[in-house]
Amino acid sequence: MCGIFGYVGKKNASQVILEGLKRLEYRGYDSWGIAVAAEEILVNKKVGAIGDLNRLSGLPEARVGIGHTRWATHGGITQNNAHPHFSSDEGFILAQNGIVENYQSLKEMLEKKGYNFTTQTDTEVIVRLIESKLKLLKNLKESIRTAFLELKGRNTIIVLTKDSQIIAVRNGSPLVVGISPDSQEYFFSSDTLSFAPFARKIVVIDNGQMIFYQSGRLDLYDVSKNSKLPYRFENISIKNSKVDKEGYDHFMIKEIHDTPYVINQLISQRIDDYSKFAKDLKQANNVYTIGSGTAGIAAAQIAFYLRVFAKISATNLIGADAHEYYDLITKDDLIIAPSQSGETADVLEVLEILRNKGVKIASYVNMLGSTMTRLSDYSFLTQAGPEICVMSTKVFTSQISWGYLVSKIASGKGEEALEDLTILAQTIEKFLNTESNHQNIKEIAKKLSRKKDIFLLGKYQNFNIVKEGMVKIIEGSYIHAHGIPSGDLKHYAITLMDKGVPVIVAVSNDQAKFDVMNAVSQVRTRGAEVVGISAAENDNFDFFIKVPDTGETSAIMNIIPLQLLAYYMAVELGHNVDKPRNIAKSVTVK
Ligand code: GLU
Repeated sequence: MCGIFGYVGKKNASQVILEGLKRLEYRGYDSWGIAVAAEEILVNKKVGAIGDLNRLSGLPEARVGIGHTRWATHGGITQNNAHPHFSSDEGFILAQNGIVENYQSLKEMLEKKGYNFTTQTDTEVIVRLIESKLKLLKNLKESIRTAFLELKGRNTIIVLTKDSQIIAVRNGSPLVVGISPDSQEYFFSSDTLSFAPFARKIVVIDNGQMIFYQSGRLDLYDVSKNSKLPYRFENISIKNSKVDKEGYDHFMIKEIHDTPYVINQLISQRIDDYSKFAKDLKQANNVYTIGSGTAGIAAAQIAFYLRVFAKISATNLIGADAHEYYDLITKDDLIIAPSQSGETADVLEVLEILRNKGVKIASYVNMLGSTMTRLSDYSFLTQAGPEICVMSTKVFTSQISWGYLVSKIASGKGEEALEDLTILAQTIEKFLNTESNHQNIKEIAKKLSRKKDIFLLGKYQNFNIVKEGMVKIIEGSYIHAHGIPSGDLKHYAITLMDKGVPVIVAVSNDQAKFDVMNAVSQVRTRGAEVVGISAAENDNFDFFIKVPDTGETSAIMNIIPLQLLAYYMAVELGHNVDKPRNIAKSVTVK
């Protein structure tokens, strides 16, 4: 899940790379490292997140360099295991995003040949493999190419040479090259956003391709055929690429406050652009939705809306567990993938397989130029601006709002949905700008932060919503939380209901209300303390978060107080809100 960044140009390379890595930190923040080529290659590595940008990288002025921010998969989180990794003669240095699945057998083979390993990473194996090739081939580019062909798994590597060359090869993990308006600067990166303020054009590198920079020249190669490829530039214009807390204490709360903006971004899309997609949706034999983590929950809510509003038989798949469906999904089916990054490895693997079967793919992605976007027959962009906090909030809300809109369009009620979403955006804005809502939620968060287990109940439109509330609480507070379909409660989890056990419930004014309130009464009878998120107060609520009733978009409204609750709990516990321990935002490894 690491981020890689390379730079060539007139500016001070280490500073540009440091800023690029900072923007890539959502991909991992176990350690970071930067190398520049001056007379020789100089490197600086540190454990932990980058932190303050004024923390200079301690490297001399140089025009060329590479950097890496790590989410460790192989080898502990130490300075020694931090990327990039030097070749034995320090003639080149390499960073990787991915996992070398056959690293053990390669390592044994190389050890037999007399190579020593100084780190525990799978990445060092790539370095030594290239060295072993170089001994025979005497050509670094060719050695990188042939070594790369021996790697199994999804990986992308970037190499900096003493002679100021940059060579990057992609297979699975993302890689994109940005070019400044005057064509004097090149950025090699895991995503477009990291260099968005400085580039107007990009070259998207595909799997199995290698990009080679040398003395102002950029060449693209097909790795397995060893032939040069033509490449084309794509223009980019990313509005709102600013990465700034805008006066808020954390990105998370700033991004929750961005919700009305992201819903308005969605509404500003042309409904006509959806007509062909809506037709395909209606005609598909089966529709599947897929995602991982929070996007997996958004995918489930999209499937819910498709079933309820468009009467489409939609099934939700979890990225890592979709295998058993491979034989069942045919070319007459359609799959929908919502994703922040468009690079989630589990989901990409499924989409690649289904695409080869002729299954139609639609995606709703926040990152321009992502792999998922390029794999899709229908690609819709979230245009939510950068989401920096590792816990997704505004993008999730945009994804489920999109599901609502698409389902309504498919049922011929697109215009009506646009009105609903317009009202929803205004209502959320008002809710977020009312200080007493924050005070109330903060008080409840304080109490919940002292609990060991937290339960969440929901049904119908609110089940996925409370599940997402569960995910947010787990991510931010590291407290065990459990989202339960309220009707299932009495079949098992009721045994856990004891005096003082906290139960959060989201209730809408819908057909499930009676059942949900029944469950609330059952847990309260056993001593549970109930936090009710609802438009109407109830005697069975010990704590009450009043939300406006927005009708059919009520579930989308309900996610806002849950996100705020998770935020204030993380703050109360003194956790690193924007970078919770152990996770990364974009999971590009399996
Ligand atoms: N496998 C490499 C490491 O642990 C890179 C991990 C990644 O891309 O997430 O250092």
